[in-house]
Amino acid sequence: MSNPDQFNILIVGEADSNGGDLRGALQNDHHLDFVRSGEEAVAYLYEQRPDLILLDLCLNDMSGFDLLQKFKDMDEARDIPVILLTGAASVEDEERGLRLGAVDYLTRPFHSAIVTARIRIQLDLVKHIRTIERLGMIDALTDIPNRRFFDLRIKEEWRRTCRHKSCISMLMLDVDKFKDYNDTYGHPQGDRLLKFIGKILMDSLHRPSDMAARLGGEEFAVLLGDTDTVGAIKVAEAIRRKVEKGIVPTPQGDPTSITISIGISTIMPTMEGDMADFIQQADKYLYMAKEAGRNKIVYKG
Ligand code: GH3
Ligand code: MG
Ligand code: MG
Repeated sequence: MSNPDQFNILIVGEADSNGGDLRGALQNDHHLDFVRSGEEAVAYLYEQRPDLILLDLCLNDMSGFDLLQKFKDMDEARDIPVILLTGAASVEDEERGLRLGAVDYLTRPFHSAIVTARIRIQLDLVKHIRTIERLGMIDALTDIPNRRFFDLRIKEEWRRTCRHKSCISMLMLDVDKFKDYNDTYGHPQGDRLLKFIGKILMDSLHRPSDMAARLGGEEFAVLLGDTDTVGAIKVAEAIRRKVEKGIVPTPQGDPTSITISIGISTIMPTMEGDMADFIQQADKYLYMAKEAGRNKIVYKG
């Protein structure tokens, strides 16, 4: 998102009862999407992740409370803050909504300045949480996502791909003879090489659903959404070649070139499918690539 203060807000309810007054208060600062029914809201949240949801308690197909409970049962929506909207101020409803996990409650008639201020409080919180999450999920040495982020994203991608009935691939990569490299050029130079590889990975990924992470030591992983084995081999080969050709200058002059080995696994995931197996496959093929002489890519032929 280009403007870090502009957020995506989903408004659930009758367009005319919420649209007019809320739209006026929010549309200049944020991107707004409207859905009318609970069913549409659930379908929307399977595909998109708004920063905030404004939920009218009065919907045409279900009660706002039931829908809020549904959101809290959905992995895709559980963490998105929900502000309830209602026409009638009732302490019981407000209490019930907050107990179900809503973060705030707005009663008609909406006052533009109050709506804006209370929504701003929630969006500031969202911003702070994002910053903390980001800092905890970036590898400090290479500046690319770490294992925690990878574990989170692979779960999301697995679920998304199940719904789309498509396949995902992952690459498991490990630097060849890195211990020798460290012994020859020193640990700080080894660190420089890891940064260099992190950069090659980031530069090699082009789709929003692709991601690279440093899993630890000199081991990296790449996740490729909607990608079959043929596509994954292309990405892997491009990375392998860039690393082989790349030169990381050392204080003593240019070192010999470094190589990596890569294992690829591909799967059409199902909800019952075993994600650990999928990851282990990539690991197994990485081991076979080492056995086959390193600087190799191994996949299920
Ligand atoms: P192989 O080709 O079989 O992968 O051999 P290797 O030497 O790369 O593998 P091994 O697992 O024996 O050694 C990994 C080395 O990676 C050990 C350690 O010196 C180095 N290493 C791990 N983490 C870091 C790090 O953060 N910085 C640096 N500079 N080196 C690291
Ligand atoms: Mg290694
Ligand atoms: Mg290793």
